[in-house]
Amino acid sequence: MSGHYTLVVGSDVPWVTSWSGEQIVGAAPCQTVGGRLALMQASDPGSGKPQYSKNHLVRQRLTVVRMLCPMCGQPTDQGDRWTQIATRRCAGQLRARGGQVRADIADDRVMIDAGSIAPLHRRCVDRSMKYCPHLRSSDDVMVMRFPREWLVLPLLVKSETNAGVAVAFLQLCGVTQTIDRRWRAQAALG
Ligand SMILES: [Zn+2]
Repeated sequence: MSGHYTLVVGSDVPWVTSWSGEQIVGAAPCQTVGGRLALMQASDPGSGKPQYSKNHLVRQRLTVVRMLCPMCGQPTDQGDRWTQIATRRCAGQLRARGGQVRADIADDRVMIDAGSIAPLHRRCVDRSMKYCPHLRSSDDVMVMRFPREWLVLPLLVKSETNAGVAVAFLQLCGVTQTIDRRWRAQAALG
């Protein structure tokens, strides 16, 4: 690289994006998941090339546990948390996929599955829509407020270096107060 143009992390490149110079270094106990075994990755944003389709393992977990905006890396407040690509699912659907959903949440409660993407600031949503052609053209984009309550579901991988499983990324599901009546009807039939 001749270096005549430098990409700024958190502005030109999302804070959570992985860079080619950041090596994945295997599994180790990680504070982001309360000391559980998790996949670790060197932290050197700006080194090599940004890998736009990949999240950095540790930064991704930090965005979820600390509610940091994946775009700018700064904390989001309750009143300014927005999600762009989220799927509505019933708690029962998440349970059927092996998700650890709290027992007090009924199967027919509607959840906002944000996948691995923590909520963004509104200004960062607008910025990403402006600069990312993929987002702009996607039919899946629907900007909505993130619920006040949420669940964190660890996405596990088999650890190559240690016996057992390690946390790779954290999945985030907003909990809404909405009940899906169709789910209840289907459950009654089945
Ligand atoms: Zn932001």
